[in-house]
Amino acid sequence: MEPSQPRDRLGRPLGVLRLSLTARCNLACPYCLPDGHEPPGLLDQEQRLRLIAAAVALGATSLRLTGGEPLLHPGLEALIAAAAARHRGERAEPTDIRAASLREIALTSNGTLLSRERALALRAAGLDRLTLSLDGSDGASVAAMAGLADPAAGERALEKVLAGLDHARAAGFDPGRGALKLNAVIQRGRNEEQLLPLAALARERGVELRLIEYMDVGNRNGWRPDQVLPAAAMLERIQARWPVDPLGRPSNGTAQRYRYRDGGGHLALVASVSAPFCGDCNRLRVSADGIAYTCLFARAERGLDLRPWLNAGSDPRGLQDALASLWRGRQDRWSEERSTGATKGSIDPALRRAEMAYLGG
Ligand code: SAM
Ligand code: SF4
Repeated sequence: MEPSQPRDRLGRPLGVLRLSLTARCNLACPYCLPDGHEPPGLLDQEQRLRLIAAAVALGATSLRLTGGEPLLHPGLEALIAAAAARHRGERAEPTDIRAASLREIALTSNGTLLSRERALALRAAGLDRLTLSLDGSDGASVAAMAGLADPAAGERALEKVLAGLDHARAAGFDPGRGALKLNAVIQRGRNEEQLLPLAALARERGVELRLIEYMDVGNRNGWRPDQVLPAAAMLERIQARWPVDPLGRPSNGTAQRYRYRDGGGHLALVASVSAPFCGDCNRLRVSADGIAYTCLFARAERGLDLRPWLNAGSDPRGLQDALASLWRGRQDRWSEERSTGATKGSIDPALRRAEMAYLGG
């Protein structure tokens, strides 16, 4: 079978591979609650590179490395360097069909481990874009959102993330060109008072803030609809202080973008609960142990174990065919169904869903 560039059952092409490098994290954000250990059968570097090559052959132009906390992964820089080199065509291999079409490599990290040396190493390895996550602007709110023991621990984490932002910028991740951004999850009744302080912090540093609605990923976080602060409400509060003009949502993007009228840079809102964007979702997720998922809200048992096709000596066409067939059968539009379907506004607690830190946020 010729895999070429498959479309799923809703006509959506594959565009992004989100690859989780570890299910572990050094934080314990209550809305995510990662495992303290890795799943058995973690992929090795060669398996990851085979997977990246197969996804690229099927149309992926963007690779986002995530987790868990990807900076815990000791081979991170080596993986980026190898993927970047192969996709610049420096090390052509039989697996590198259409190798030149990987356009960017991005990373999402909580930033607490981003030293000056690591930022430089990531840049040198070929990382194009970096998004750091921070849900508060003071020790108490950071501690509450990151699952840390007390405000002093939150303060230390905050200082590290802010230093990480500085290191990233100094290493060449230019926020003005979209190469450095800040993610913040906002939960109603938990950190909503951090909206303006976080926006101020991002504006002062010239970094785009991406405000994310609290999502019902996995089962552990005990998500309830009333804990979601809708993007429209977030925008209203920001607008009252700093008016913005809409820039729209880039196709296949997750965020509605805005420009501050006073020249204070950009703001983005990820409204996956209140205004789902399943219609042009082009993201394939693969967990650190090689299980492929076609939706962030997937049932745990819906993943496809790719390891049988990832071993040394396996024909790369076998992996491509398996991925192409998974993608062609894809019809996920969970977020849209949440707002329109029978489960309206809530989730069935009997559904066993893959957890965020496991399948890669
Ligand atoms: N540890 C890294 C980090 O925190 O950036 C990468 C993995 S994390 C799962 C990726 C992103 O998902 C983070 O920005 C995090 O805040 C976000 N996230 C995790 N759980 C979420 C949830 N239930 N709702 C919305 N965003 C969530
Ligand atoms: Fe860790 Fe990121 Fe999950 Fe927070 S959101 S616990 S930093 S993986």
